[in-house]
Amino acid sequence: MPIKLLLFALAALVVATGTTCAADATVDIEMTVRLDPSARIVEGTARLRLPAGNSRRLLLASAARLRTLAINDQPARRRERVQGELRSWSLPSRAETVDVRWEQSLEPTPTNLDHRATIGRASASAAELGSFLPAAAQWYPGLQVDGAPALQRWRVTVETPAGQRAIVPGRLVEERADDKGRTITYRMDVPAEGVDLIAGPYRQAERKIVSIDGRTLSLRTLFHPEIEGSSDDYLDALVGYFKLYEKWIGPYPFDDFTIVSSPTPTGLGLPSLTYLGIDVLKLPFIRDTSLGHEVLHNWWGNGVYPDYEGGNWSEGLTTFMADYHYAERSSADKARLMRLGWLRDLSAIPPGEGLPLARFTSRTHGIAAAVGYGKSAMLFYMLRERIGKPAFDKAVRRIWRSYRFKVAGWAALREAFEAEAGDELESFFKQWVEREGLPRLTLAAGDDGGAELLQDEAGYLLQVPLELRSGALRQSLTERVAGSRHALRLQAEGGELLLDPDFKILRRLAPREIPPTLRDVNLAGPAQLVALGGDDMDGAIGELTRRLLDAEASAVDDDRLSGDQALLVVGTADAVDDWLARHDMAPRPAAVDRRGEVQAWAGRHGDDRPLLVVSAANANALAAAARSLPHLGRYGWVVIDEGHASDHGQWPSLPQSIPLQASGKTAR
Ligand SMILES: [Zn+2]
Repeated sequence: MPIKLLLFALAALVVATGTTCAADATVDIEMTVRLDPSARIVEGTARLRLPAGNSRRLLLASAARLRTLAINDQPARRRERVQGELRSWSLPSRAETVDVRWEQSLEPTPTNLDHRATIGRASASAAELGSFLPAAAQWYPGLQVDGAPALQRWRVTVETPAGQRAIVPGRLVEERADDKGRTITYRMDVPAEGVDLIAGPYRQAERKIVSIDGRTLSLRTLFHPEIEGSSDDYLDALVGYFKLYEKWIGPYPFDDFTIVSSPTPTGLGLPSLTYLGIDVLKLPFIRDTSLGHEVLHNWWGNGVYPDYEGGNWSEGLTTFMADYHYAERSSADKARLMRLGWLRDLSAIPPGEGLPLARFTSRTHGIAAAVGYGKSAMLFYMLRERIGKPAFDKAVRRIWRSYRFKVAGWAALREAFEAEAGDELESFFKQWVEREGLPRLTLAAGDDGGAELLQDEAGYLLQVPLELRSGALRQSLTERVAGSRHALRLQAEGGELLLDPDFKILRRLAPREIPPTLRDVNLAGPAQLVALGGDDMDGAIGELTRRLLDAEASAVDDDRLSGDQALLVVGTADAVDDWLARHDMAPRPAAVDRRGEVQAWAGRHGDDRPLLVVSAANANALAAAARSLPHLGRYGWVVIDEGHASDHGQWPSLPQSIPLQASGKTAR
């Protein structure tokens, strides 16, 4: 199961309502709140010191009760305006301070949400198992200046009953506990988006390190008792990430960092902390991948703020400098497979149905994720290839120096990269940020016997990697392509010419370049079903197709087989091998052979349509495999024993290639 973590879900909700934080308007908030998770009540007092502004409004959740309001220390009555979940009060121009006393009853923490439902929520909820009061739910008084929420600095004291511990973004400055409860104070001294309050029955572990600029940093875990045992491993991993990113980018912008466990399948990155589901934290690979991604968001996202109006670049840069960096550090092959994965997801978006990077705010569905993470990360990869790693890394440090705790858009990033590369990058950024979709490149034999590159989308300027292969000899070339038809002049003595075999540029892949996977059969419309092995197998085959396919498959017999439709072939091993031989299809691959009880592999048939073959020792084995197969869709082949995958793998990609004659003519 791929774990997808979502950052900025809450910031994105703010964007979705058409507002972004007002530049330079920062409100200072000092508040004391009492949270009672079992009674599900939060109550507090807050003093806001206001920034100047023409039109300023006090904001509070509609669900909250305003007890008292004072302006410049005088009790005040103002008329309220209710807009959906929010109430607001306009503030007079002479107002310098506002004091508020309020309370709110909270919803119970949902326990049956899936990840998708969790990320769309902005309501405050409480329970002993865990409470989450997102800033976007406006559970405490905030400020709007000229129609946009103001940035905030804060000092927040939270009182919780015994056994509970609370955290908000910022630096832990004071903590007191006795048998009645705990009082804990956090400060945020730089402008941030808002106070997200988290509480639970946490056990705390801590590690101190010295930052690159000589400060003492406190790294912590706040874990539920059931995962307390993994604290040390998580703290070890954190130390590694802090070393990596401080050296690469610059000093960590806060003094604390805490990994907080959540009873719901959450994945949130907030300034100085990350809030991750217990079930996610139990997965051993999270420490090596997602955790570093979350840590890096303290630089990109919560350190330098993206300009959501012009497109959120922070997921792409974070994916490139975290997920992709770890793959690259591990092996060139892993890095190549990650690039292939991004291009494959982007290629699955029907032409015209994507969105330009300039319109990406946060992950809301598959297409947005493919663009906002994959296309964006690939942009940074191509940029580094173009200007070189030294200039790229210098630009990254320049962005950090110039925009720490400020909003930066794509243009600000471009200027930093241009300054360090000494190169004009306007057309590069323009075509990849502002255009929707991707160019499709085709390598073809040219009219004059040479080779040519065809581009279906007009106007992309591309540096296209090519590879000449002749025997053991491999020679890489880069060809600058602008028009829709580009003749290649090659000096070659035979061999073959390959188009971008390592997936180094953003482009729509040809079907053959995409290695088949088990799930393809379900993504290509209604499939045809060939059921083999007789009546004994029918029940298990029915069970498998119900679990595997969204649409009902149509059973076909041999002479009605269509090469235009996806095909699922299921049956006993002998019957399957027989059937494949009779239909001149590729035989059972050596990778699966007859290992285990069930073998499944993906391929293509007819007109490049998806083919899935499932071969089972018997009906019981197939019925057991039916439960796990739907979760193995990303693989090219699997071997299943007693219902579980005992081995799996991917098929190689087949690059576009043409044979060459001596002196660069294509062989005919
Ligand atoms: Zn992210």
